[in-house]
Amino acid sequence: MEKQLLKVAKFGGSSLSDPPRFQGAIDIVKGEEGRRFVVVSAPGKRFSGDEKVTDLLYACYEHAQNHNDKKFEETFEKIRARYLTLRDALCPTYNIEEELEGVYASFKRRLGKDHAASRGEYLCGRLMAACLGYPFLDPADCVFFKDDGSFDAEKTNDALSTRLRALGRAVIPGFYGSMPNDTIRTFTRGGSDITGSLVARAVNVDLYENWTDVDGFLMADPRIVKDPKVMESVTYRELRELSYMGATVLHEDSVVPVRMAGIPIVIKNTTNPSAAGTKILPRRDGDAPVITGIAGRKGFSAITVEKDMMNGEIGFCRKILEVLEENDVNFEHLPTGIDGISVVAPTAQLEGKRAKVLDRISRKAKPECAYIEDEIALIAVVGKGISSNLKALSTIFDALAEAKVPVLLTNRCMAENNAIVGVHEKDFEEGIRAIYAAFAG
Ligand code: ASP
Repeated sequence: MEKQLLKVAKFGGSSLSDPPRFQGAIDIVKGEEGRRFVVVSAPGKRFSGDEKVTDLLYACYEHAQNHNDKKFEETFEKIRARYLTLRDALCPTYNIEEELEGVYASFKRRLGKDHAASRGEYLCGRLMAACLGYPFLDPADCVFFKDDGSFDAEKTNDALSTRLRALGRAVIPGFYGSMPNDTIRTFTRGGSDITGSLVARAVNVDLYENWTDVDGFLMADPRIVKDPKVMESVTYRELRELSYMGATVLHEDSVVPVRMAGIPIVIKNTTNPSAAGTKILPRRDGDAPVITGIAGRKGFSAITVEKDMMNGEIGFCRKILEVLEENDVNFEHLPTGIDGISVVAPTAQLEGKRAKVLDRISRKAKPECAYIEDEIALIAVVGKGISSNLKALSTIFDALAEAKVPVLLTNRCMAENNAIVGVHEKDFEEGIRAIYAAFAG
C-alpha cells in the first residue's frame, strides 16, 4: 500500500470566506487521511470590495478605543453575521454564539489591538474544528513571543511538537501567539502562513499544503503579462529572490521553519484542488526549467560617481558607501566600471537628502562628478544558475533589444540564481513582457 503522507493543510482567508469555499476546505481535509493538522486564517473577502474579517476587527478595536459605540456595534454586527452565516450552512449544531459573546466581551475588557485582530482566526479555528470533529489547539498556549516582542522559535517548537503529537490531529488558528505576560501578540499581516510553517516543522510533516485562491505562483505579474504560466516548482532561494523583487508570494518569514527542516511546501487552489499547484523545494535535484520566474520593482535611483583612475584608489567605494550609511540609505546594487560607479538605491530613501548625499560624496571621495538619475526599474530574471548561463543571458538581452528597451545597468552575482537588469521605469512593463515571451511565451 502507498505510504500516506502526513500533511499540514493551511487555508488562507479567501478559501474560508463564504460557505461554499469553507465547505471546499472541509472536503479537502476529509479527502485524505494524512491531512491531520489544519491551520486557518480568518475569513477573507467574498467578492471584490468586500471586507476581510481581520480588517473589521481592527476597525472594531479603533471604534472601541474612540468610544464610538454606534460604529463599534455596527462593525461587530458584520463580524457576527459572517460567522453565523458560515455556522448555519456548515455546522448548524455548533454554538458559535457563545464564542462570539466571549469575543464581544473581550473588546469591553480592552485586551489590546493584537488580541482584537487575533479573534478572526480564533473563531474560524473553533468553527473548523467543530466541522471536522478535530481537537482545537489555541496558539496562545503553544506559539510564544519573547518580552522584546520577537518570536521564540525554540520554545514554540517544543510546545507545539509536544501538544500536537499528543493530539494526533488538530485545528490550529494562524496569525497569533502569546507573550510571557499572557497577552496575545500577532505576527505581521498574512502571518497565518507562518503558523502553518511552524506546525509543519513541529510535527515534521512530509508536506506543507498552503491552500489559497490561485493555481500556484505565476511566472510573472498577471497585471503585466497576460495569462502567465504557473510555476511547477521553485526553490526556497528562488522564492526569496522573486519576493524580494516584488512578486507577492508567501509571507517571507513563513519559509524559514520549513526550509530549516527541509519540508517542501505546495501552493494549491481550494476552488481547483486537482490542479498540481506550485511546489516549493529545498533544492532542485534533477532538471530545472531555464527560468523560474520574472519579477521587478520600480522606484529606484542611481547615484553615479565618476573619477579617473577610480579603480586604483583603495577605499573609494567605502567612502561612498559610508555617506549612504550616515544618511540611512540602504543600497541595493553596486555596478562598477573602471572610472565610475553607480549605487542603486530606493528613491524614497533619498528624499530630502539628495543635496546632502551628493555634497558629502564630493567632499569625501573627491570625484570629477556625482549625480542622481531617477525613475529606474529593476527586473530580476530568476532561474537555476542563470547568472552564468550564457544562452539565457543572451536571450534576455536579445529580447530587450528587439523590444527596443534600453538596458541602463546589469547586475549578476556569481553565486546567485538571478540576473538583474535596470531599465527606465517607462519601459518596465514592456521589458518584462519581452523577456517573458522569449522564455515562456
Ligand atoms: N488574517 C490575517 C490577515 O488578514 C492573517 C492571515 O490571513 O494570514 O493578515
